[in-house]
Amino acid sequence: MSEGKIPILDLKTQYRSLQAEIQAAITRVCESGEFILGSDVKAFEQEVAAYLGVKHAIGCNSGTDALVIGLRALGIGPGDEVITTPFSFFATAESISMVGATPIFADIDAQSFNINPEAIPALITERTKAIMPVHLYGNPAAMSRILEIAQTYNLKVIEDCAQSFGARYAGTCGVCQGTCAPEIRSAMTGKLTGTIGDVGAYSFFPTKNLGAYGDGGLIVTHDDRIADLARMLRTHGSKQKYRNEMFGYNSRLDSIQAAILRVKLPHINAWNEARRTVARTYNEFLAGLPDVITPAVSDGHVFHQYTIRITNGQRDQVQQDLAAQGISTMIYYPVPQDQLPVYKGKYPAYPVSDELANQVLSLPIWPELERETIERIAQALKQFLAAHGA
Ligand SMILES: *Cc1c(COP(=O)(O)O)cnc(C)c1O
Repeated sequence: MSEGKIPILDLKTQYRSLQAEIQAAITRVCESGEFILGSDVKAFEQEVAAYLGVKHAIGCNSGTDALVIGLRALGIGPGDEVITTPFSFFATAESISMVGATPIFADIDAQSFNINPEAIPALITERTKAIMPVHLYGNPAAMSRILEIAQTYNLKVIEDCAQSFGARYAGTCGVCQGTCAPEIRSAMTGKLTGTIGDVGAYSFFPTKNLGAYGDGGLIVTHDDRIADLARMLRTHGSKQKYRNEMFGYNSRLDSIQAAILRVKLPHINAWNEARRTVARTYNEFLAGLPDVITPAVSDGHVFHQYTIRITNGQRDQVQQDLAAQGISTMIYYPVPQDQLPVYKGKYPAYPVSDELANQVLSLPIWPELERETIERIAQALKQFLAAHGA
């Protein structure tokens, strides 16, 4: 694919590699007549719980619903505050607002693109109930420091893992420089994101690292009570049909999606490893380029996105130039959550988040992306910067 257009993401190559198995799984569901929840959802929940190393996994309709249901299952609602990052997809803050609570933003750390834990303590009030870190682009947030703060202030932790399925916390985050309590750090080192806090919320939106062929989501927890509540909330607040005990949601996982996810799950580690290889290859081709900051490649990072920073103020021109050469790129995210129309004017400035919103550029990435294509993208970027550099 080194001639012609390069998309930001190619889902067809992966489909073709599993076509026969996926078609067989879809046919099996159609013939079973069981379309919502049912045996494939149950089997997927067991398989994904075993993969993640967590006691309970509860399928639901989307990553957004997983966050909403996770917050409700933690007892968070009107009057409560949840501390999160301004630099994420809107579903992060939206889920907090939708349960009636208020998102409170803590600025991010420029190296990791994730919430800066040192910005959290100053924001804690009597109303603060939880911290919602996002493992943005597939890079685990600074979980040991976040857990330490949560323990100190008696807060819950709900992880937004929509971009981090299979990401592993390495024990260092580059932010706290190993200053957090060693017993906390060693207890979580090597754990998968989503299994460290009280609740993990995942999305199976088709473009995510583990993507279904429609919407889907997952709530995970080690806690029996939270799991019970989450199971009730996904089916209209009932344990037993027509015996509704609370106001819930219609948020079930479809059997066809679960059957497809069961075909894909055994491949996720290889796909994530292939994404890391793509990231290393980009870093190799872009090494030493002025005005470009490339992301660090750690073993636990699953590179949902490969995102660079263009620091000479010409990010938008770079994007246009690449588009003219048939290379698609994306800006995740051009407007931080606090500045979206729904929240505008309600929050102070977050200088790091604001700066990165003007610098980030996500380049094409998928597991099967070939070295020659990566080279072509890197060359195009180099040529533009050489011609327009300082
Ligand atoms: C995709 C995404 C979500 C929402 O997931 P859906 O399945 O689309 O509802 C939430 N948070 C982040 C960070 C995401 O990238």
